[in-house]
Amino acid sequence: MANEFELHISRELAERIGQHGAETFPHECCGALLGRDGMFAGQDGDGQREVLELFPLVNRRDDSPRNRFAVTAEDVLAAEKAARDRGLDVIGWYHSHPDHPARPSLFDRDHAWPWYSYVIVSVMSGKPADMTSWRLNDDRQEYTAERIEVPKRATV
Ligand SMILES: [Zn+2]
Repeated sequence: MANEFELHISRELAERIGQHGAETFPHECCGALLGRDGMFAGQDGDGQREVLELFPLVNRRDDSPRNRFAVTAEDVLAAEKAARDRGLDVIGWYHSHPDHPARPSLFDRDHAWPWYSYVIVSVMSGKPADMTSWRLNDDRQEYTAERIEVPKRATV
């Protein structure tokens, strides 16, 4: 069993997560990560995951803007359908921390499930900053940090 987790994501998708967080600032954004588990670039890879598409979730509540990340049952169903339509799986969830570091809060821990990757992007003064990823351990008490692998920017 690998105890080192890696989440592969293209620079474009990583930037889109940051942009989503900038758009919803000072509120949190959130969405699903669609891709493949246990594989990278078509090869088997223990502990490896690849994000191939995003599924942004919208704030459906009119009364109070979504300012805390909690995935609802409807979100899960919608994300799973979007993934199926593309031949992918829901491998995790992303959300932003407006003016806070990219570390899981107690609220995050209490509302997370094991297995999934949880990407957090810090948005400082409206600008995307650090991005981290975490997997909740099976005991649901601690997270294991997951390395995010983003290819270097291609020169234009
Ligand atoms: Zn959070």
